[in-house]
Amino acid sequence: MQVLVVGAGLGGLSATLFLARQGIRVLGVAKHAHTAVHPKATGQTPRTMEMMRLGGVEDAVMAGSVGGIVIKVAESLKGRVFQTIVPDEGEFDLSALSPAPFGMASQDHVEPVLLDRARELGAEVRFRTELVSFTQDDTGVTARLLDLPTGRIGTVRADYLVAADGHRGKVREGLGIERHGRGSLSHHIGVVFDADLTGHTAPDKTTLYYLQNPAFTGAFVTTNTERRNVLTVEYHPERGESAADYPEQRCVELLRTATDVPDLEPKIVDIARWEMAAWMADRFSSGRVFLVGDAAKVTPPTGGLGGNTAVQDGYDIAWKLAAVLKGEAGPGLLASYDQERRPYAQAVVDTSYHNYVERLAPQLKGPDVPEGIDPVELGFGFRCLSGAVLAEDDDVLENPYEPSGRAGFRAPHVVVERGGEQVSTVDLFGHGWVLVTLDPAWSGCGVEVPALTDPSGQLAAKYGIGERGASLVRPDGVVAWRSPDLVIDPAASVRRVLAVVLDR
Ligand SMILES: Cc1cc2nc3c(=O)[nH]c(=O)nc-3n(C[C@H](O)[C@H](O)[C@H](O)COP(=O)(O)OP(=O)(O)OC[C@H]3O[C@@H](n4cnc5c(N)ncnc54)[C@H](O)[C@@H]3O)c2cc1C
Repeated sequence: MQVLVVGAGLGGLSATLFLARQGIRVLGVAKHAHTAVHPKATGQTPRTMEMMRLGGVEDAVMAGSVGGIVIKVAESLKGRVFQTIVPDEGEFDLSALSPAPFGMASQDHVEPVLLDRARELGAEVRFRTELVSFTQDDTGVTARLLDLPTGRIGTVRADYLVAADGHRGKVREGLGIERHGRGSLSHHIGVVFDADLTGHTAPDKTTLYYLQNPAFTGAFVTTNTERRNVLTVEYHPERGESAADYPEQRCVELLRTATDVPDLEPKIVDIARWEMAAWMADRFSSGRVFLVGDAAKVTPPTGGLGGNTAVQDGYDIAWKLAAVLKGEAGPGLLASYDQERRPYAQAVVDTSYHNYVERLAPQLKGPDVPEGIDPVELGFGFRCLSGAVLAEDDDVLENPYEPSGRAGFRAPHVVVERGGEQVSTVDLFGHGWVLVTLDPAWSGCGVEVPALTDPSGQLAAKYGIGERGASLVRPDGVVAWRSPDLVIDPAASVRRVLAVVLDR
């Protein structure tokens, strides 16, 4: 086995799918019996959807997607509104930044889609299979797996281990990696219920209300399953409360308060306890083991970024491991996983904590609350700074509507013409390394150089390459290097750059 992936949530299934897509022999294991039942993470940013597109699952994800979202902070569904984050008539139009749509599918829909596709691409995924221990040496990882139905323990040897075992995962601890952060923020009861709330929720959209009600603090969200909704209610262990204080009848009363429907007769589907927290692992990798998703960081869900980050982590480690396993890169490339993903995760956690205070815990406002980063900037304008790019400076953020094309930033979306057809530059990426240029003198330099024309005249400016320069784009659509002009020996230059960024 080349890669063992522990966990079949959004992080683990993404890593598994994107490894299998590149022909890597991958085994995924999960101790649970199936994928998520709780709708949890709803919403895929276009950046995540670009990856879904590459995985061949864009349509399947969108099939479970309700169009648009309304987000407010309010007393109840019909009560006083304290803040409108996305208004009823608002739309996220990010078409200037990406050819991919905004997804609004929930986790219980997306996980089975990723699972089916990973298996179709040749991955093996076993449920009710628990990693009980592992060791690593210079050539690989040896893992002991417990088959829960039979109680039998087997051993698997893999070149690498991806730990996507969630926020309670044990792999991080096993590696001796500490985590730090604000820790537990609040405890919640999540009530999944079916009820007809027509007239109380936005039609054909996800309705997300953060609730600051005199009776409780929590959140209400509709799902993409007809009539299905979720209410989360904060409870207080410090006041002696526990989940046992929330039997079904009390939950029904709270649902009536939250929806302003005093005679609501909901059908309760599930009541689960969960903890909102903010944690960061001190390192995202150790030797041949890589932490992905909630195993690496835990973020408050205020901002909808936990699931998106898990998918993007999975994509990132997959292309890097595949490059090393195929002999296209040296093992040094793998250091960039921690160098790039950890600062991003920290920004996600800080921004989500900022949102948490704004939306659910105003009593915590104070100088120690970090400034949030604008979600569009965080999603499209956060730079990768590592040994896998040749950055000219160390700026971390830029406005993605005014891209500079500098190495480390996402290669911008520009509509160009290839073979007489209009395509987005973004759709040129994801299958290998691509050199973006308008000058045919760069062809034959060892990577794909699509013959492009630039009818809008934006390519040269947004990539900072003029008519004769070139931009070298990695398989994750990030600029690794660019030259503003033609160089004397293009092939030798590209070879030299690849040798550095791929640790060849
Ligand atoms: C109520 C709620 C609402 C949320 N809302 C959003 C949102 O709107 N948007 C968003 O982006 N995110 C949201 N999130 C966060 C999102 O759900 C998580 O970030 C995401 O599930 C993390 O995925 P993961 O794959 O890292 O871990 P998980 O989904 O936790 O998966 C962990 C996996 O590891 C397996 N596992 C654990 N230990 C072992 C072991 N020893 N052996 C084998 N398998 C093991 C489990 O079986 C499971 O398959 C929300 C979370 C909650 C709780």
